[in-house]
Amino acid sequence: MEMGARDKVATIKPEGEIYACPTCGYPDGFHVSFKVAELTGKADIYLICPNCHSRFKLGWHVDLSST
Ligand SMILES: [Zn+2]
Repeated sequence: MEMGARDKVATIKPEGEIYACPTCGYPDGFHVSFKVAELTGKADIYLICPNCHSRFKLGWHVDLSST
């Protein structure tokens, strides 16, 4: 698995329970952040490890345009 770093975005395979950071092993889950595309209002969801600040993208999207 590609490892995450502050400047890079790694991916996590979306299976099982996703709570442990694959980079540092922090076991208590992630912060959630959104990157919104200006034209569509659709956002990519990123997970950020609160311990080592690695960023992960799971291919999750949310539509914020109607809020
Ligand atoms: Zn971590």
